[in-house]
Amino acid sequence: MHFGFSAAELTLRDQVRDFVRREVRPLEQRIEEEGVIPEHLLRRMRELGLFGLSIPAAYGGLELPLVAEILVLEEIATTNLCLRTRITTNSGIGAMGLVYEGSEELKRAYLPKLARGEAIASLALTEPNAGSDAAAIQTRAVDDGDAYVLNGQKIWVSNGPHASYYTILAKTNPAAGNRGMTAFFVERQTPGLDLGPVDRLMGLRGAATCELRLHDCRVPKRNVIGEVNKGFRVAMRALDKGRLGMAAGGLGAAGRLQESCREYAAAQAGKRAGNGAGFGVRGRRGRLAELLAANETEIYALRLLLYTTAARMGRGERCSTEASMAKFFGTEVVNRVADRAVDFFGILGLQADGAAASLVERMYRDTRIMRIYDGSAEIQRLIVARALLAG
Ligand SMILES: Cc1cc2nc3c(=O)[nH]c(=O)nc-3n(C[C@H](O)[C@H](O)[C@H](O)COP(=O)(O)OP(=O)(O)OC[C@H]3O[C@@H](n4cnc5c(N)ncnc54)[C@H](O)[C@@H]3O)c2cc1C
Repeated sequence: MHFGFSAAELTLRDQVRDFVRREVRPLEQRIEEEGVIPEHLLRRMRELGLFGLSIPAAYGGLELPLVAEILVLEEIATTNLCLRTRITTNSGIGAMGLVYEGSEELKRAYLPKLARGEAIASLALTEPNAGSDAAAIQTRAVDDGDAYVLNGQKIWVSNGPHASYYTILAKTNPAAGNRGMTAFFVERQTPGLDLGPVDRLMGLRGAATCELRLHDCRVPKRNVIGEVNKGFRVAMRALDKGRLGMAAGGLGAAGRLQESCREYAAAQAGKRAGNGAGFGVRGRRGRLAELLAANETEIYALRLLLYTTAARMGRGERCSTEASMAKFFGTEVVNRVADRAVDFFGILGLQADGAAASLVERMYRDTRIMRIYDGSAEIQRLIVARALLAG
């Protein structure tokens, strides 16, 4: 597959691969147990520029073409998946509204810190009564002189506890549905903004989510992202890109699981991985061969869908439908690969402690969550179907 990666992009991919294999993988289980990414790894991620993958160079980011960004995210997703989430919340859904539609003043004030990873930005859209149906949000923003006053509640804000800034969606014209929503870039220290405790989830333990409570929170008008009442578009553009980042997460994790199945098969056969030697076609081995082949085929199809869509979207083509396909296909492929990995390893694939296969157990839980957030698989299918039926 040739997607025209430059030498610099391939070098970055190799550096990230090296970083993940040498420095992160030895700690991935510790990250799971402690729910924290060690500070020295975050420092290395900053040095590699990983927090500014999609932030323009004018503001200190790497400004990678989208398909090259996907290549890097795929590498990151071969280890504990909370690292991918930390990056894509920041240079992805939390910051992209600002990149796409923020004023020059806002960009200059905030993007350099985000690009350097000195600060994290999160996206706060979901509410107790508005998940898939984002237009149903009830958080209100009322015009009051030089500011808007925000009241409401946001939940499941990824990296919320680590963030310094939040892109918050609120209704400025409640009667107008998704045409009455505005996006605000809000500093964490703003009076009236409070954080709830960290949520406990079945997986993604190092990617803390939390609630945001807004009580008479005054946000200066200059912190409106784009136009008033056009916030839905801001959020959807950021989420479209986020969907490809999620599919890259699925691709990277599926690749890692497959690698681990192959290593296990090779060790069992006492042969080198890759040449199929000693890996017969009958009985138990035949079953394992079937699982490997099914994984490989789906991973290949996912890579084609994802890279092609990223290359097209990066050229400015509208690819919302394909982004939705990549999101649901990518997260379902990785779930099937994780499920087959459990079959492959048998009891070892269910063990959380010590065993080499604890990777399977962790990724099985982490990747299940990926089918829900950034728009569930069902919602992605609806988007694809609507586009088809619209002709
Ligand atoms: C780990 C994690 C991180 C998250 N991070 C963020 C974040 O950073 N910012 C943020 O704003 N939100 C975040 N979310 C929230 C996430 O985006 C929502 O959970 C998601 O949009 C689904 O909403 P819901 O959970 O309320 O499910 P619901 O909308 O209540 O849906 C429940 C089920 O019904 C299905 N369903 C709903 N509507 C339809 C329909 N019309 N047709 C068919 N099926 C339907 C859904 O697919 C789902 O299976 C996060 C969630 C998780 C788990």
